[in-house]
Amino acid sequence: MQKYFECLATDRLSNARRGRLTTAHGAIDTPAFMPVGTQGSVKGVSPRELHELNAQIILGNTYHLFVRPGLHVIKHFGGLHNFMSWHGPVLTDSGGYQIFSLAKLRKITEEGAEFQNHIDGARAFISPEIAMEIQTLLGSDIAMALDECVPYPCDYDYAAQSAEMTRRWAKRCRDWKRRNGQTGTPGLADSSTRRLGDSMLFGIVQGGTFEDLRKESAQAIVNLNFDGYAIGGVSVGEPEEEMMRAVEWAEPFLPEDKPRYAMGLGTPPQLLKLIARGMDMFDCVLPTRLARNGTAFTAAGTINLKNAEFILDKNPIEENCTCDACREFSRGYIRHLIKVEEILGLRLITLHNLHFYLNLMNQARAEIEKGTFDQFCKAFVADYKTRDVLGVE
Ligand SMILES: [Zn+2]
Repeated sequence: MQKYFECLATDRLSNARRGRLTTAHGAIDTPAFMPVGTQGSVKGVSPRELHELNAQIILGNTYHLFVRPGLHVIKHFGGLHNFMSWHGPVLTDSGGYQIFSLAKLRKITEEGAEFQNHIDGARAFISPEIAMEIQTLLGSDIAMALDECVPYPCDYDYAAQSAEMTRRWAKRCRDWKRRNGQTGTPGLADSSTRRLGDSMLFGIVQGGTFEDLRKESAQAIVNLNFDGYAIGGVSVGEPEEEMMRAVEWAEPFLPEDKPRYAMGLGTPPQLLKLIARGMDMFDCVLPTRLARNGTAFTAAGTINLKNAEFILDKNPIEENCTCDACREFSRGYIRHLIKVEEILGLRLITLHNLHFYLNLMNQARAEIEKGTFDQFCKAFVADYKTRDVLGVE
């Protein structure tokens, strides 16, 4: 069998890895950032623009697509790739995170989660097997096992029971794929959607902020033998040190020849710190979400273009940035667009922010290849002003 993940280089002084993950829709250079296509769209950006930004993979949110437009619509269009006209790799989450954070009237049992969606309150039920069926129907290249993401803070006993249930759910997801993976699943997916045998399934490590639970969870999930491993239950409101520790506890258990995904993170310095801790893949709504508030990322930290200091500023968002916004437009003009709520302003900041994140990964890969990532990471973190951008919206 062809190797689907290769580690091409490692850093000299950190655990950073430069790799390549091959999916049925193309290759992904790691460390990789995945723009988030919440509702079948990376907000404000077309698939062609994503390709021009060198995005190699996007994330689709199963829960949102399940609620609207509904699976029958996506099935009618032959899967998510065709529906949204993005023909690169897609990773889908299991829907679990949104069920636990957005939906109402949740009842979680061993069998699965019963909930009412946050739009019209319609009742639905999701089990590990149903989460797999839905992701197969979406045509996912990388599917995620259904897990329970516990909130922060969370008491030990609940975190322990939850991690144990997440392990049992992960096994059911794996077994479902084994049962259905060989022959494909007619009736679930149209011929144009991904054949199940071509897709990957990642398991998710949980365990809250507890060292023994994180380690036990990592070992148990790895024992189930997935195509890749994710660290879940991070960036749920815990201090950054807790986030780093959760990854550090799990990482030694994760096999070196499989990709590792830190879910739902983070600020630019956090991404680099996690790359230094051996993580390969990231997804985060910050570049697109903060753009809507007028916030742009720069190597010196975030700036909010709504501020009066930018009214007469003829400089681009960031000097020497090669994105479409910075090549043509001034801070002063983009500030004006944001203030009068012109859609172009939001789009320009979104394009810049996505370029910033994707380019940061590009730089990280080059530094790992040279063996100098650790120095690069420390210098970047030192220059980047710490601001509480996570609290916005
Ligand atoms: Zn730019």
